Amino acid sequence: MVKFDVCIVGGGAAGLMASVFAARGGAVVAVVERNTAVGRKLLRTGRGRCNITHDGDIDHFVKAFDFCGRFLKHSLYEFSPESTIDFFAKLGVKSKIEKDGLVFPTTDKAATVKNALLQEAQRLGVKFIYGRRVDGLVKDDSDFTITAGDDTITSKSVIIVTGGKSWPDLGSTGDGYQFAKLLGHTIVDPIPALTSLVSGAKWLTKLQGVAVGDVKVFAKIAGKKIASTGPMMFTGKGIGGPAVFEFTRFAAEQLANIKGTIEVHIDLLAGDTDEDFRQALRNFAFANPKKKVLSYLSDILPARLAAEVAVFTDISEDTPLSQLPKKKCTKLVEMIKHLPIHVTGTAGFAQATITRGGVDTKEIDPQTMQSKICPGLFFAGEIINVDGPCGGYNLQIAWSTAALAGKSAAQKESGRT
Ligand SMILES: Cc1cc2nc3c(=O)[nH]c(=O)nc-3n(C[C@H](O)[C@H](O)[C@H](O)COP(=O)(O)OP(=O)(O)OC[C@H]3O[C@@H](n4cnc5c(N)ncnc54)[C@H](O)[C@@H]3O)c2cc1C
Repeated sequence: MVKFDVCIVGGGAAGLMASVFAARGGAVVAVVERNTAVGRKLLRTGRGRCNITHDGDIDHFVKAFDFCGRFLKHSLYEFSPESTIDFFAKLGVKSKIEKDGLVFPTTDKAATVKNALLQEAQRLGVKFIYGRRVDGLVKDDSDFTITAGDDTITSKSVIIVTGGKSWPDLGSTGDGYQFAKLLGHTIVDPIPALTSLVSGAKWLTKLQGVAVGDVKVFAKIAGKKIASTGPMMFTGKGIGGPAVFEFTRFAAEQLANIKGTIEVHIDLLAGDTDEDFRQALRNFAFANPKKKVLSYLSDILPARLAAEVAVFTDISEDTPLSQLPKKKCTKLVEMIKHLPIHVTGTAGFAQATITRGGVDTKEIDPQTMQSKICPGLFFAGEIINVDGPCGGYNLQIAWSTAALAGKSAAQKESGRT
């Protein structure tokens, strides 16, 4: 039976990157993937275009990662956002920086990224074992035994890269948490983040597909004020899009413990203060007294949303702006700047871009990604209790932690650490 130096459990973004770095370090490497192909989630990233990283220096990333920035700092120095761009360029995948600093392959195809990683790993002799769901991981004095049904693999080191619990249809169902627990690790409760918010409000169904460019989503939940800005989208069952996704990251813990409903507000014109908007409305009404309220609202908001705002404000569609009573004018400002939505929770793991929670970072050495509890055991990617905002930050976590884990595992097996 072949004994591997490094066995990588999971063939997602982090698993593929770890395999390349472990093999480049001279280790004999196997990747065990439960799906019949690697990188299924990777292929879905960035709507199939794969937002591989973000344009920014390490300080920018550390700040964006907030609670987990300190833990990730060393891995970012080892394999920075710039290294990501260079690494893929050397494998023939050039990239481009788009609006707001998002970095994509010039092909606009996630498949190019996955194929480049897989081909490099294959070129280095990594053995891929497909269609095997690892169901056991134990360690004796020196080696690990990995089981997948009737199959058994022996390895000197193991890197667990099974991801979180988000988008379970693609393979990440949280299996790795069990292995980590059995080997002595603490799991911070996994909760969905970067996801949509769900509401039972009937009026939202009429707005399915309506997008708004620049909103602020805000609420006070369990005494904590939470706000995020950016584009949003009405999903029919609730609200989604970048501003809402970001909100669910900031409020992940609070949203996981909602009892009943909470009131979330949307500022539909986030660029203006309430007073700016009130004044602009007054000036416009003065200059255009005959303009109908609905027509005015449709100029500043998508038409379907404008009609709903008019209904909420109890304003007849034909009312000219000059005849808008002061009370209704105040209500209109209130609706546009503080639109209330009663939210019952998030859309859950099925639609969450990432999982917040996972293996406690206190139990992992940030210099190597090796377990502080079980020597020879390494972690990388989403299984760790680390997460970032939308925009290429989460794949950068996968690349940086996996490159470091792969390199460290290979060094350990060659006796260099
Ligand atoms: C729809 C969507 C779009 C996204 N777009 C972006 C983006 O554009 N940019 C960005 O930065 N981030 C994006 N993300 C987040 C990003 O995809 C993840 O952060 C990243 O994939 C995490 O990599 P990972 O390798 O840790 O986990 P995963 O990619 O989830 O890989 C885990 C792998 O382990 C395998 N596995 C699990 N259990 C077992 C087992 N028991 N035995 C064997 N194999 C197992 C799984 O099948 C899977 O292949 C997106 C996420 C989603 C859901």
